[in-house]
Amino acid sequence: MLARERTQDDWRRLLAGAVTDPKVLLDRLDLGDGPLARTLAVAPTFQVRVPEPYLACMTPGDPDDPLLRQVLAVAAEDRPVPGFVTDPLAEVEHNPTPGLLHKYRGRALLIAAGGCAVHCRYCFRRHFPYADNNPGRRGLEDALAYLAAAEDVREIILSGGDPLMLDDDALGWLVERLEQIPHLIRLRIHTRFPVVIPQRLTPRLVDLIAGSRLRAVLVLHLNHPRELATGISEALQPLLRRGIPVLNQAVLLKGVNDQLETLMALCERGFEAGILPYYLHLLDRVAGTAHFEVDEPSARLLYDDLAAALPGYLLPRLVRETPGAPGKLPLPPRW
Ligand SMILES: *Cc1c(COP(=O)(O)O)cnc(C)c1O
Ligand code: SF4
Repeated sequence: MLARERTQDDWRRLLAGAVTDPKVLLDRLDLGDGPLARTLAVAPTFQVRVPEPYLACMTPGDPDDPLLRQVLAVAAEDRPVPGFVTDPLAEVEHNPTPGLLHKYRGRALLIAAGGCAVHCRYCFRRHFPYADNNPGRRGLEDALAYLAAAEDVREIILSGGDPLMLDDDALGWLVERLEQIPHLIRLRIHTRFPVVIPQRLTPRLVDLIAGSRLRAVLVLHLNHPRELATGISEALQPLLRRGIPVLNQAVLLKGVNDQLETLMALCERGFEAGILPYYLHLLDRVAGTAHFEVDEPSARLLYDDLAAALPGYLLPRLVRETPGAPGKLPLPPRW
C-alpha cells in the first residue's frame, strides 16, 4: 500500500516541478548563453512545460536537440503564416456537449482533462477552447448522458489535453460510469503523460485499465526514439503483461523526426518495448506551428522509403486530418 502511495506522490511531484521558464530550461542544458537564447518567444500564450524525466533525455549543449525543439517556445511561433489557423479541424462543429467530440462513426472522443504534463509546441490543441471544454464533473455528466443515448458509439476515447492529468480516483469514477453504458465495448486512452512522467503508470492505474469490463487499448504519443529512455519502456511492462495493447501515434515534425533512420528507430525500438506503431500524422496547420511542417510531397517521399524499410506490422499509417472526412485520411505508400 505504501509503495502505491509513494508512486502517486512521485508523479504529482514531477508534474508540479516541471520546468516552465524557458531560460531555466536553456541554463539546465548549458545553452543559456548561446544563440538559441536570443530566439525565444517573447510572451507565449501557450506556456512552456517540461517535466524532469523528459528534460533528462535531452543532450546538454545541443541547440538542435529533437526533444528540446518540441518544447521550447521560439519566436517563430509568433509569426503569422497564411493557411495556419486556430481551428484547422473545425472541431468546434462536432462538439455535442462540452468536452465531447463525436466526429467519426462508432467512436467518440472525450476531453477528460484540459491540461497536459508537457506542452508540445506543435500541438493542434494549443488554441482549443479548453475553458469551455474542460468539462469538470458537471460537463462529464452531460457527456455521459449523450453517450448513453448515442447507441452507435462502441468505443470511447479518453483524450485531452491529457486524460491522465486526472488522478486515479477521478479516472476510476469515470471508467466505472462508462462501464455502465451497455453499448460501449472499448476504452481507448490517448496520452503522452507517461512518456514524459513514466511514474504516472501507477499499479492502481494499471488495475483500472486492465481490470475494466471495457476492452482497453493505450495509445501513446512518442515522436523520437530517445523518448523511450524516459523510463516509459520499463513502466509499460505491467500493462503489457496483462495483455493491454500499446500503440503509438507520432507527428511528423521538421527537425525532430523527419529522417528515415529516426523514424525507423522509433518504430523498431518502440516494438522492442512492446509498442506497435499506429499513426504518423502530418502536422495540422495550426497557427504558430509552421516551422515544424514537412510539406506533403517530402513527407510522402520519406514515407515511401519507410514503407520499403519496415515490415508491414511496424509501419505506422501516414494520415492527415481532413475536416468533413469520415476518418483520418490515409496517405498510403505509392509504389
Ligand atoms: C482521431 C480521432 C478519433 C479516432 O480516430 P481513429 O482513426 O479511430 O484513431 C476519434 N474522434 C476524433 C475527434 C479524432 O480526432
Ligand atoms: S501532450 Fe498531446 S495534447 Fe498535450 S500539448 Fe502535447 S501533443 Fe498536445
